[in-house]
Parts: sequence; C-alpha cells; structure tokens
Amino acid sequence: MPSKRDLVDFWKKSGLLKDKNALAAFMAVERKHFMVKGTDAYAYEDVALPIICGQTISQPSTVMMMTQALELKKGMKVLEIGSGSGYQAAIIAKVIGAKGKLYTTEIIPELADFAKTNLEKEHIANVEVIHSDGSEGYKEKAPYDRIIVTAAAPLIPKPLIEQLKVNGIMVIPVGSGVQKLIKVVKHKNSVDKADLGYFRFVPLRGKHGMPE
Ligand code: SAH
Repeated sequence: MPSKRDLVDFWKKSGLLKDKNALAAFMAVERKHFMVKGTDAYAYEDVALPIICGQTISQPSTVMMMTQALELKKGMKVLEIGSGSGYQAAIIAKVIGAKGKLYTTEIIPELADFAKTNLEKEHIANVEVIHSDGSEGYKEKAPYDRIIVTAAAPLIPKPLIEQLKVNGIMVIPVGSGVQKLIKVVKHKNSVDKADLGYFRFVPLRGKHGMPE
C-alpha cells in the first residue's frame, strides 16, 4: 500500500511540487478521514475516488497542484467552490493557518454535511462550510485573496472575478469533457490567464455552471 511519504517523494523527485507549506499540509492531514468506508486502502493511491451523491474526492496530485498554484500565505481569506469531501479544504486550511479563513460552498446538502463531519475529524476550525450555489461566489464575505473552483465550469463565472481582490489568484478548471486548469491573476484593469494543463473534474452546476 503506498504511503503519504511515497507520494511526497514522487512529487519532489519529479519536480511537480515545490511548495513546502503545501507538502507539510499534505503530511498533516489523513485523506481517509474524507473518504467513504471500504476505500481506505486507496488513500495514498494517486487517484480520485467515489464519495457520496455520485461525486468524487479529487486525486492527491490535483489537490496539491491546485494548492501550489494558489500561492497561499498565512492569514489569507479564501473561497472554495465545491466542498465535496472537504479534503481540499483541509489542505488549504492548514496552509493558511489559524489566522486564515476558508469559506467553502457546496451545492448538494448531503455533501455539505459530509465535508463538515470530515473536517471535524481533523479538528479544523478555520473553515466554514456553506450550502449554496458557489457558481455565484459568496458575496457575504467577499473580496477574497484566493478562489479555488473544484468542478469544471463552461466559462470563468463573472461573479468570481468580481469577488477576487486586486492581485488575487483564482484556480479553475474550464471546459467540458477534459478540462484545462486555468490560473487567473486579477489586476486593476485586466486579468492574466495561464494554462496549467489538462485535468478531469466533475461538472460545475448552478447558475454559472454547465447547462443541464
Ligand atoms: N474539493 C473536493 C472535490 C469535490 S468534487 C474534494 O476535495 O473532495 C466537486 C464538488 O463540487 C462536488 O461535491 C459538487 O457537488 C460540487 N459542486 C458542483 N457545482 C457546485 C456549485 N455550483 N456550487 C457549489 N458546489 C458545487
């Protein structure tokens, strides 16, 4: 059975991940706390796994690449769209530390509860799980230093750009079928977009999500 350490060694050797804080967060969180019964043995296989309601916990490499791309710093205010298992939320929460705050939105009520319960298992207190359509962002706590979307959007939702601070960073998969992961940097009068490669995510639903 592969261990956390095997994955970290692989990431270091391949040069895929250099962010020490992200790697420390990965070592500090038990992925099995965010999985369903009977799948424990796969916790440190580098694969996405089914959770409940037909959704998935993302692949460790994907979670980590997105975390690194966010260039997180201690104390930041972050918005996540798509809590799912809560695992990505847990990793971000560790990197931004106790003075940071993560708001994570989930459109399926059962999954919002699932994420909450899982985050409690890890004693994570700087995350708030919100049951809502995150394709519209979460105006109540905007603007954010960072935004991460963990489901594939047809286009970058405008409200998310609006709710990002100037100099803020957003990571979002865009497109149907196989998606491109896009890193957005917001400037005062423009946005820069960088392509981080191809990934596969479940579709974003809601107002600015995929057409049904
Ligand atoms: N970050 C998660 C990945 C979950 S998969 C993890 O670490 O496990 C993506 C999640 O996005 C699913 O749970 C899905 O229900 C949710 N989702 C899809 N559209 C959404 C929307 N408009 N608002 C909030 N959550 C959404």
